[in-house]
Amino acid sequence: MKNTIIKYYSTNRRSPEVTFREALLGGLAPDGGLYLPDSFPLIDKSELESFSGMEYHEIAFSVLEKLIGNEIGHSDLKQICRDAYCFEVPLEKVKDRKYIMRLDRGPTASFKDFAARVMSRLMQYFLASGDSRLTILTATSGDTGSAVASAFYGLPDIDVIILFPKDEVTDMQRKQMTTLHKNISVLAIDGKFDDCQRLVKQAFMDSSLSHLPLSSANSINIGRLLPQSVYYFYSWAKLSGKLNDRATFSVPSGNFGNLMGGIVASKMGLPVDHFVISTNENDEVPAFFQTGVYTAIDPSRNCISSAMNVGHPSNLARIIDLYGGMMNEKGIITREPDMKKIRDELFSVSVNDTDTITTIKEVYSESGILLEPHGAVAWRGLNEYLGRQGNSHPAGTLSIALETAHPAKFPAELRSIIKKDPELPAPLEGLTGKTENYTMLGNDYGLLKEFIINNT
Ligand SMILES: *Cc1c(COP(=O)(O)O)cnc(C)c1O
Repeated sequence: MKNTIIKYYSTNRRSPEVTFREALLGGLAPDGGLYLPDSFPLIDKSELESFSGMEYHEIAFSVLEKLIGNEIGHSDLKQICRDAYCFEVPLEKVKDRKYIMRLDRGPTASFKDFAARVMSRLMQYFLASGDSRLTILTATSGDTGSAVASAFYGLPDIDVIILFPKDEVTDMQRKQMTTLHKNISVLAIDGKFDDCQRLVKQAFMDSSLSHLPLSSANSINIGRLLPQSVYYFYSWAKLSGKLNDRATFSVPSGNFGNLMGGIVASKMGLPVDHFVISTNENDEVPAFFQTGVYTAIDPSRNCISSAMNVGHPSNLARIIDLYGGMMNEKGIITREPDMKKIRDELFSVSVNDTDTITTIKEVYSESGILLEPHGAVAWRGLNEYLGRQGNSHPAGTLSIALETAHPAKFPAELRSIIKKDPELPAPLEGLTGKTENYTMLGNDYGLLKEFIINNT
């Protein structure tokens, strides 16, 4: 079977369509928009059913091969998937048909490993066939930075510059980035995550830097989103695999990259009932879905689910595009999306810190399952959704809340909630003794620009 060739267009529609390779290495489109595939290949019924008997890396190959198989050799892609996915994806039953999917067993104990490990290998694959180098510039609220640092560490043709808000990541998250060295440079920005994100965007839009080979590893990069569709297929296949059995997923959301992976999966044929978008107190999207009016939250609110302290999700422009609307790079909606369809398919709910903490306590005492703050937001959001559905959403419906980090990444928070220390998984052990190396930088674009020029 020959795949149709998929092209990638910009949500701003003012740049030419490109191949996957160009979208991956470019990051942001030249017009400031975000790339999206111009069509979604369907996975047929018998192949979907066959996923139940497959390993994670095999499902990953099947899904990604449909999307990018025209641009990479099959045996290379197979090898990349096998290499990238060498860890468990536990599916824990809480009760009835309600599950937690743990995406926290990768090398940096966050779900961002799933995307970063494939994206880095794909970038290196495409670069190795030419003589060019790449510098990855990325903003992090904690987990992206460590996942990207780990995934790109030591790659021959790629340098990485990571910006993090100096007071908003945990010691462990910082050490995961700052103890690697080699091709990984880390900048502690005197600002918030949104400031880091804004600085990175400004560098990408700066025509005086356009001679530099800059790209992004944030979820503005389409290479982050496509691999994130795989665990939606995997969990459905392992827990059901029956085509008439539609699953509901609750996704703890900040920049909505994780959710975009789910939307890609559903467009490729995964039987999805609903997506529950669970946010923390940064409720700009729940408010938007309710009122139809979008207002970013600036500055974003500090919540214990810190990786979701995002006042303007960078993937919102993609979601609005997929629902027939348009949002420009300034976050202004220039064409209304189909709000009715959005409300029919996506349920969005905001969970405050008090409820997040109560949820961690309750789930731990009732079922012995330890959630960290992001997973707790997802679990709470799922239950609010199911509660509101009442009888129209039978208890037999498969529902899956995504746990996006390992509890041990939040020792202080969990110690104060459950009165004991979460156990450290192997990858997080041994960080304490290592030497850290990073540069403090003011929240100022001129300073960042100077650093980029001196370090690429
Ligand atoms: C990044 C992150 C999120 C938010 O994911 P998005 O794709 O930005 O919506 C949630 N939980 C954790 C632990 C994260 O690191």
